[in-house]
Amino acid sequence: MLAALISRVRALRAGPAPAPLPALERPAPIEGADIADFDTCPRENRRTPHAMRADGSRRCFRCGHETPGQDS
Ligand SMILES: [Zn+2]
Repeated sequence: MLAALISRVRALRAGPAPAPLPALERPAPIEGADIADFDTCPRENRRTPHAMRADGSRRCFRCGHETPGQDS
């Protein structure tokens, strides 16, 4: 009796089966950027969010200033 009631409640809560999720896709990355992080912008002389690249170069999100990587 109770089990039948529980299964009915579950059936009502479940509703229609959800559509299958699409295959997981990586969001489009920012052009050439690996991660975003705060760094000192030489042009603004303050810490601003930057797009950091694997080669160490970075671009200020606020003013667009390009800072070359340390390795190059
Ligand atoms: Zn800047």
